[in-house]
Amino acid sequence: MPRPLPDDLLKVPHRRDVSFARLTTLGVGGLCRWLFEPTTEAEAQAFVRACAREGLPWRVLGGGSNLVVLGDLEMPVMKLAFPKEIRREGNRLTAPASHGHIALAEAAAGAGLAGLEFASGIPGSLGGAIRMNAGAYGREWVDVLTRYRFLTPEGELVEKAPESGEFRYRWSFLTGGRVVLSATADLVEGDPATIRAQVAEYRGKRGTSQPLSKRNAGCIFKNPPGLSAGRLIDLAGLKGLRIGDAEVSPEHANFLINHGRATAAEFAELMAQVQAKVREVHGVELEPEVEIWRE
Ligand SMILES: Cc1cc2nc3c(=O)[nH]c(=O)nc-3n(C[C@H](O)[C@H](O)[C@H](O)COP(=O)(O)OP(=O)(O)OC[C@H]3O[C@@H](n4cnc5c(N)ncnc54)[C@H](O)[C@@H]3O)c2cc1C
Repeated sequence: MPRPLPDDLLKVPHRRDVSFARLTTLGVGGLCRWLFEPTTEAEAQAFVRACAREGLPWRVLGGGSNLVVLGDLEMPVMKLAFPKEIRREGNRLTAPASHGHIALAEAAAGAGLAGLEFASGIPGSLGGAIRMNAGAYGREWVDVLTRYRFLTPEGELVEKAPESGEFRYRWSFLTGGRVVLSATADLVEGDPATIRAQVAEYRGKRGTSQPLSKRNAGCIFKNPPGLSAGRLIDLAGLKGLRIGDAEVSPEHANFLINHGRATAAEFAELMAQVQAKVREVHGVELEPEVEIWRE
């Protein structure tokens, strides 16, 4: 029997029993029993402080574009719902962590600021992108990040510039109960037409190589050192392997797609079969790139 949540936590805006299928781009998962949606930094801080005090496990969700959720989650989940305001000071843009990542890249391009073109095809929220140090085409967030605000696991608010060791390839130290609240990108003035052309080129590349018409969670497995996970899966003959409505994309072997009614269990089974076959054929252990959440 789950224990009742404390009153101060319940003051933070929340909804009950929201399907993870609606909260993630892959579109599977059970119910999020408690979805907290703070609209201010103070509410987010109250959430973290209450959970820390009570010793309650919890999670923070962004756009759900790097997640596979298996089953229901009874623990509180926080999804920031701050006003989507972007502040400009000179060539610096500051946005709340809940801002759409692609929308931020588009706003930068629209303002004639170069530096976020790489982000224009990466879905999810700004907070998720900072946490993951998201990147593409040889650029990543740490290249433009100049300041950020976050909550510690105890709920203390910190604002700082990035330091060495805090960010590396698709990783940051912003895990384990740390919550990104906002981030500032240091950009450069550029020719709007050139920026738009670069964005269009990157989008075109994605359009031809990724199965973007089906629900997916991006690349499912990490590239093993010096190797391509997609190529290993392809060479193992797994493109098109299907369990129910979950399939290894025939277009891009490192994308698993949801044909509409796939379940989390089908994705878990498909991932396990891909890992087993790649182990058997290539002797390589594939590690998930997506996060897997279970109670
Ligand atoms: C079609 C497609 C293409 C993609 N292409 C790329 C790509 O080119 N490059 C790339 O790097 N990624 C790519 N991704 C993966 C994904 O979009 C990124 O990892 C993205 O940055 C995740 O952000 P999110 O808000 O969706 O995070 P979520 O999936 O919601 O969460 C991911 C992790 O971030 C944490 N998190 C979320 N918000 C916060 C916060 N405010 N503070 C602290 N932690 C937080 C979560 O707890 C979780 O651990 C792609 C995904 C898809 C579906």
